[in-house]
Amino acid sequence: MRVIVPSKFKFMSHPYRIKTDEMALMSAGTTALVKHLYQEVLVTKHLPNSERTQALFHELNHIIERHLQVKIDDVDTDRIAEGWALFFEILGIELDWSDVDRSREG
Ligand SMILES: [Zn+2]
Repeated sequence: MRVIVPSKFKFMSHPYRIKTDEMALMSAGTTALVKHLYQEVLVTKHLPNSERTQALFHELNHIIERHLQVKIDDVDTDRIAEGWALFFEILGIELDWSDVDRSREG
């Protein structure tokens, strides 16, 4: 089953956008990051779908950390993200990035 990744979502009262700003990611030297002050999650489109899924879950963990005052180191953040990615895979859920990829970069 394919589930569309929305280009906009809300975590509690905080609206975020999911984008593929390749220039910003390249200049930051990473494949994904969250810009809390801009309420943006950036994930490159140049990853296999399974890695892109884990990267999104990783950044969503950082959003939970920020707004719920949770402290998780980056290694554990990655492990939790992989756990969710594996759970989705077991359920047969594959993320569809078409909405994110269609939205404008920058
Ligand atoms: Zn991180």
